[in-house]
Amino acid sequence: MQKKCSRCGNEMSMMLRNVVYRNRVKIHNVPVHVCIDEHCAHCQVVDFVKDDLKNLMNDLGQNPSRQTIDFEQVSELSNLLVMVANQEEDEETSMREALQLRINELLDMFLLAQSLGDQNWMNELRQKLTQLI
Ligand SMILES: [Zn+2]
Repeated sequence: MQKKCSRCGNEMSMMLRNVVYRNRVKIHNVPVHVCIDEHCAHCQVVDFVKDDLKNLMNDLGQNPSRQTIDFEQVSELSNLLVMVANQEEDEETSMREALQLRINELLDMFLLAQSLGDQNWMNELRQKLTQLI
């Protein structure tokens, strides 16, 4: 997932940033690429999560109320990137492992939701799973 800066060509590193939307909504833990050159410091949202972020902003609309959102609660991909960011290993391996772990976790919860007959929860989990599989 190495990325080159589109402005100066230096490498970019991935980190989690807080993003403020329309001065009202604070979105925590949005994965961004930041240029390692401090003079450039170009910053852009990681491609993987752009759609999730766009959808979230659409849902919030033009006049959102003041609130704080944890992006990893909204975006399964962000959730994974947060997990990976907390590990030091080789990115590709840990991404795959994190993905597998998360899918297992969701499947476990799905079985639980199913055994409880909780339709809403099942739908919610199904939606999360389709983001990953
Ligand atoms: Zn740059």
